[in-house]
Amino acid sequence: MDTLTDGAGWRDAAAALSFRTDAFIDGRFRPARSGGRFDTRNPANGSRIASVAEGAAEDVDDAVAAARRAFDDGRWSGLAPAERKAKLLAFADRIEAHATELALLDVLDAGKPASVTTSMDLPDAVGAIRWHAELTDKLYDRLPPTAADIVGMTVREPLGVVGIVTPWNFPVMTACLKLGPALAVGNTVVLKPAEQTPLSALRLAELAAEAGIPDGVVNVVPGFGETAGARIGLHPDVDCVSFTGSTEVGRLFLHYAAESNLKRLALELGGKSPCLVMKDVTRLQALAEHVATGILLNQGENCSAGSRLIVHRDVKDAVLAAVQAEFDAWTLGDPLDAGTRLGPMIEQQHLDRVLGYVEDGQAEGARLVRGGKRVRIDSGGYFIEPAIFDGVRNDMRIARDEIFGPVLSVITFDDEAEGLRIANDTPYGLAASLWTDDVNVAHRAARALRAGTVSVNCFSEGDMSVPFGGFKQSGFGGRDKSQAAHDQFSELKAIWMQLR
Ligand code: NAD
Repeated sequence: MDTLTDGAGWRDAAAALSFRTDAFIDGRFRPARSGGRFDTRNPANGSRIASVAEGAAEDVDDAVAAARRAFDDGRWSGLAPAERKAKLLAFADRIEAHATELALLDVLDAGKPASVTTSMDLPDAVGAIRWHAELTDKLYDRLPPTAADIVGMTVREPLGVVGIVTPWNFPVMTACLKLGPALAVGNTVVLKPAEQTPLSALRLAELAAEAGIPDGVVNVVPGFGETAGARIGLHPDVDCVSFTGSTEVGRLFLHYAAESNLKRLALELGGKSPCLVMKDVTRLQALAEHVATGILLNQGENCSAGSRLIVHRDVKDAVLAAVQAEFDAWTLGDPLDAGTRLGPMIEQQHLDRVLGYVEDGQAEGARLVRGGKRVRIDSGGYFIEPAIFDGVRNDMRIARDEIFGPVLSVITFDDEAEGLRIANDTPYGLAASLWTDDVNVAHRAARALRAGTVSVNCFSEGDMSVPFGGFKQSGFGGRDKSQAAHDQFSELKAIWMQLR
């Protein structure tokens, strides 16, 4: 992996970056038809990074037309699976060779600490493309048990043109999580990255072309949700949309599909994940490290953030003290410094929203134990000290809404049933973590928690081999990661053949 490990190296490499700023359609960069452009800004200091083509409906139409041609003439779907695999592996190699560059594009655009993008986002992005590439020529179709004069087959086929719409919190990684299986199955793609973070997706498209993926197979249209995003959702010739983002916008995609062509949808949405700590826990240090990571990773701008610490009353004080001490180890600062683990919020408006929740929590009677103030104001960036609230009731807004920032709510319970009830009392169901030393409680509670991923004695989403997606209002229609992601991007066809 091409990864610089020291902060000085990152700063120089970031200063030397060049940017791809036009839309990538049918194998070449070009401006938006309207000529419109928008600025992308660095959340760590508020400065303008680049001016990017503002793709809108007509640019999406061009990209979909290119993707349709590329799908219909079989230049990608018609390749033998082993050939598609080889090109996808070459794509993964290109990403790996440019890992530091891609990581730093996300650092500048999203304010993510370079220590995280280089050690997590990029290895995961490369791994996602590689894992799905490897599966391309290893999946077999089926023969159902028919009568002797019938040959039945169930086969998986690509859907056609896939729209991918992504958020700003893990830009390159989320794009790769979806590009991997969508392309492996044989689809062509129109990707719209979040308007806050368009740069890495544009570079990815170029790397895909360099890897030999044919023109028109990977198209990237930067632009805003209400225009470019909505057009992808409403386009009659887009066969599927794989969306990651807020529940509110996910709901719009259901409307778009209903109003247009009933396109397939896979929605990966928001969360308010519980971290449930039973009274028998003993390994407090490990617990505290995981709880802190759960809420502080990516400065809390993480869909599966463990934002509700639901802890048995008997161990609450000890757990809270350990978690507090662990918070001290999370250094907030310039994302390009090697020691930084916490960067800024993505933009001023989001910072204000998170600060608003800190006020709400106090107004509703929760006790602010630490943090919650804006800091590093002189930097021009949108930094907030991580906050912990104790004495939270599960009906308070800070316990119900996805804050999407470093704000941990501590809720106390008295017995297992009550703990489970509080954990499940949420409209979301993306992830949950559970802490216990009792194997009986572990099995019982892991089944009882209503979430797409339950991690036991750790905070984790698992690796590429396990599916990722949400129960309830955290998801709809499919899963990212694992073989389940291939299902999201393919149709199941039955073939029934009468023999003479
Ligand atoms: P968002 O929903 O505001 O935006 C996501 C994408 O949708 C962006 O590309 C945006 O331009 C587009 N969009 C916005 N409005 C649109 C519209 N009217 N029509 C069509 N497209 C539109 O989300 P965000 O603020 O970028 O990201 C934060 C959210 O993403 C959080 O809720 C978080 O939980 C969620 N998320 C979920 C997962 C997951 O895997 N479940 C992962 C990461 C983030």
